[in-house]
Amino acid sequence: MKEFVVAFAGNPNVGKTALINALAGTKLKVGNWPGVTVEKKEAELSYKGKKIKLIDLPGVYSLSPYTIEEKITREFLLKEKPDLVVNVIDSTNLERNLYLTVQLMEMEIPMVIALNMWDEFLDLGYKLDLEKFEKLLGVKAIPTVATKGRGIRDLLDIIDKGLKEKPKVKAPKYSASIEDFISKVMELLPSDITYPKRWTAIKLLEEDTEVLKEFPSLEPKLKGILREFEDIFGASGEDVIPEERYGFISGIVKQTLRKSLREKKTLTDILDSIFLNRVLGIPIFLFILYLVFKFTFDGSGPFIDWTDGFINDFLAKWIGAAISSTPEWFQSLIVDGIIGGVGTVLTFVPLMIFLYFFLAILEESGYMARAAFVMDRAMRSIGLHGKSFVPMIIGFGCNVPAIYATRTLENERDRKLTALLIPFMSCGARLPIYVLFTSIFFKKYQAEIVLSMYILGILVAIAVGLILKKTAFKGTPPPFVMELPPYRFPTFKLLWTSIWARTGAFLKKAGTVIVAAMILLWAFINIPYGEKPEKTILGRTATVISPIFKPCGFSDWRPVAALIPGTIAKEAVVGALGTLYGVGGEEGGGEEKTGFFEDLKEQIKGFFDACVDSFKGMFGSLKTGVFEIEEEEETPLQKAIKSSFTPLSAFSYMVFCLLWIPCVVTLGAIYQEFGKRMLLASIGLTTITPYIVSTIVYQVGKLLGF
Ligand code: GDP
Ligand code: MG
Repeated sequence: MKEFVVAFAGNPNVGKTALINALAGTKLKVGNWPGVTVEKKEAELSYKGKKIKLIDLPGVYSLSPYTIEEKITREFLLKEKPDLVVNVIDSTNLERNLYLTVQLMEMEIPMVIALNMWDEFLDLGYKLDLEKFEKLLGVKAIPTVATKGRGIRDLLDIIDKGLKEKPKVKAPKYSASIEDFISKVMELLPSDITYPKRWTAIKLLEEDTEVLKEFPSLEPKLKGILREFEDIFGASGEDVIPEERYGFISGIVKQTLRKSLREKKTLTDILDSIFLNRVLGIPIFLFILYLVFKFTFDGSGPFIDWTDGFINDFLAKWIGAAISSTPEWFQSLIVDGIIGGVGTVLTFVPLMIFLYFFLAILEESGYMARAAFVMDRAMRSIGLHGKSFVPMIIGFGCNVPAIYATRTLENERDRKLTALLIPFMSCGARLPIYVLFTSIFFKKYQAEIVLSMYILGILVAIAVGLILKKTAFKGTPPPFVMELPPYRFPTFKLLWTSIWARTGAFLKKAGTVIVAAMILLWAFINIPYGEKPEKTILGRTATVISPIFKPCGFSDWRPVAALIPGTIAKEAVVGALGTLYGVGGEEGGGEEKTGFFEDLKEQIKGFFDACVDSFKGMFGSLKTGVFEIEEEEETPLQKAIKSSFTPLSAFSYMVFCLLWIPCVVTLGAIYQEFGKRMLLASIGLTTITPYIVSTIVYQVGKLLGF
């Protein structure tokens, strides 16, 4: 008969021996661990036809290889590979005991927990949400009192179950910046190592001498990674990783344990009592978000304008001049298609750099984890975690960085669900469309109607979220520990790496996809070249499909056609409407004759002006004026639109633009982050949803007599 081996691991004096005694009666054998004078106790036990050997491992606080006890315990777990580990915990001292638990979890060995000393725990008046505790750790736990034999039956039951089911323990996830390093080291490891991979990688980052010894060939590459690690965190893995473990632990403890006594307060406790405060937590978070938005948009605005100008007034002009002898369609392809496409991608760079800078500060300082904590309850009701709130909010500024911000979410399901909902957040580029239509049809209630678009976006996201939760994303989101890492000052290097990694990935990976899509769209809009809009592929397609939009209230081919350029950038809908209605002003008719170097000087000067304006924008009173709606004379475009829309159909069209396919840049980001299937899912969702919602808006509006 196979003999199962169950090892008892825990800190010293938590009751391991007492538990084994209680389980096995008096059949305890005492010997020594081979080669050392550390006492080894073991016992045998039969339960439900199983022979089980219980091993009493030496008490340890950690699994680093410094003391003999630690070495023995670690060697045993790694080499003997027991069938199950019973992690014995002194429940009156959860925080300290869980440090070992987390390290056992890192090893990903099958495990159950005995919450021993439960009598003292109750005497202290503590309360534990056991169910949540188990869920967060992903480990079964039984309260026990070894000395009085309480909980022993239950413990035996879960040991028996554990031997049958071999419950998989998932290693805890740490902060994104640490995880990046863990994956980097994991990639270095040979595929056939006998130790758990993730654990080995963590140990290597901690510069664990024993593990380092086993992989001498990795040393050169590893050295580089370790140096980078120190550079970025300003401390070695040996210091930083334990902090991460404690962050994970304090998250668990905050979420599950209620102590009756007031404990001594640390600075972290004081800051937490402010940021996690029931009343103040959310307002503080919203205020911080407001600041991030203000700094990001006011700070990057001048640079975005400069980049835009540099591409269109300088690069396009001079490259255009250089190829002026080629056929006109070719010039258009190069200038409008390729340079325009590259330009669109590049104009996102200043925005991303600014936003990522502030987000990295929030993340690395430890505040973001608190924000997620505060928002968790509200977000949970739509099947998401608190952490999803941040990407969603960023979506109001721009959907593109919002997609990348989903990376901070722990699991795939949340990342995907959040990414699918982000396009419903009304980004800044949609505003010009609202401004155009409200200025024609809703002059009196312009602000209210624009606001209603934002709110509608949120409502639709909630509704779609609920539907997806019941269908494609079935099942409750796996609970996760909201890690509360220590507060720390992020180093500049860390911030810069974070910014650069994200922006660089956008340029490299998404950039190519986006430029390709732009060229395709150019062809769609311009072929056959030089024809009237209705004769182009775009015009013909729009004419054919426009009847489909009758239920939405706009079946004229022109607004339908304008949706397509709207996928390059939402604000392009306005320009396209102008062209399609034949009232688009040919801009820049009076080209000034300036020389190349004059232009170049102008651009350089412009860049310095942008620096100054950016500073003024963030700290002074310079207004970017996005939200200002100018009062002007009725333009030809406004007249044309007035005659082909009713207020209701205009509203319906705005709704359609709000919910319709975000823009190729966002789609490029989704493709890069999640792959083809998610891209298709997102396109599908943002095609069906606007159609349904616009139809409802229009039909209900008609019934109500608008
Ligand atoms: P080990 O070092 O983990 O093997 O711990 P021991 O089994 O030697 O127990 C340490 C001390 O805690 C002993 O004095 C035990 O009697 C006591 N002890 C063990 N379990 C319990 C418990 O559940 N409740 C209380 N109150 N005392 C316990
Ligand atoms: Mg003992």
